[in-house]
Amino acid sequence: MTVMTKPQETTLTGRLPKVRGRYRENARLAGVTWFRVGGPAEVVFRPADVEDLSYFLHHKPADVPVMVIGVGSNLLVRDGGVPGVVVRLGRAFADIAIEGRNIDCGAACLDLNVAATAKNMGLAGLEFLCGVPGTIGGALRMNAGAYGRETKDILIEAKALDPLGQIHVLKGGELGMSYRKSALPCDWIFVQARLRGEPGDPEVIARRMTEIQAARGGSQPVRSRTGGSTFKNPPGHKAWELIDKAGCRGLRRGAAMVSEQHCNFLINTGGATAADLEFLGEEVRSRVFQASGIRLEWEIRRIGLPSVPRDWGGAL
Ligand SMILES: Cc1cc2nc3c(=O)[nH]c(=O)nc-3n(C[C@H](O)[C@H](O)[C@H](O)COP(=O)(O)OP(=O)(O)OC[C@H]3O[C@@H](n4cnc5c(N)ncnc54)[C@H](O)[C@@H]3O)c2cc1C
Repeated sequence: MTVMTKPQETTLTGRLPKVRGRYRENARLAGVTWFRVGGPAEVVFRPADVEDLSYFLHHKPADVPVMVIGVGSNLLVRDGGVPGVVVRLGRAFADIAIEGRNIDCGAACLDLNVAATAKNMGLAGLEFLCGVPGTIGGALRMNAGAYGRETKDILIEAKALDPLGQIHVLKGGELGMSYRKSALPCDWIFVQARLRGEPGDPEVIARRMTEIQAARGGSQPVRSRTGGSTFKNPPGHKAWELIDKAGCRGLRRGAAMVSEQHCNFLINTGGATAADLEFLGEEVRSRVFQASGIRLEWEIRRIGLPSVPRDWGGAL
């Protein structure tokens, strides 16, 4: 049998710079997001370190789109997958170092690990991070927050690469962080953060973290295939209350469902497509608008194409 392979220069990786890290073509993303849905990335790039990432950004062809993802706890990857290069930061971006009250952590660190390390070193104020199941990069981009605190409250400065691979160190105030967003252009990539803690008793901090985790377990479907809060709270309102009043609790489309436990969470009950989840989200928005006149804004980031483009052969 003759096996047909594409010549290297016609594949995207054939056009990308030689790096020390790893490229993977047609790489499955569903397995790395919380919803467990969506098509593949045309290429996933795992840089060896910051210099490798910078080299890649500086030398890649200008027409190739690049985006970065964390652990996909706030992402809906559409069924057609993501064209271009999806950057995933690995172990080289997951160091945590503490000096005095400062906590330097790579963008790939899990928020929970940063909270736990700070606790072990007797630094308080980061407890809220133990309930956010993302990375520090995602927390910076989304200004992740819970229980009255947000990432911007603990941020001293962040290191980010611009689309040409230049490294910038930005003070917290320069990032324009507000409710679940940062004003940093969406094609910049965070690689590190310097966070600030306050001296505290590790036992008291540990108790607070346990309380936070217990409260979340009781009120949110944290063991489900979900993307966290689907919509932002509109000023003066709670998204879940509006959704509930519009009669959407438990609403379904295929295997996609509005959580019964917390109706601002969408759930993949098994076998849902990204289209099912997105359609259900839009149905909720429309019903909430009819019932209250308020337009909910998606908090979950939706990326990629609705269906598979033929020319790069992404398979579902
Ligand atoms: C069960 C559950 C509970 C949740 N609870 C909360 C909560 O209490 N509070 C809260 O704020 N959020 C919550 N979330 C949402 C989510 O955990 C946060 O938004 C988190 O910060 C996303 O991080 P991530 O690494 O998963 O990012 P991803 O979901 O992978 O990406 C989210 C966005 O961040 C960008 N991004 C990721 N890494 C980088 C980087 N290095 N540089 C630049 N941009 C980057 C991506 O491009 C994308 O736009 C919850 C989610 C779930 C599933």
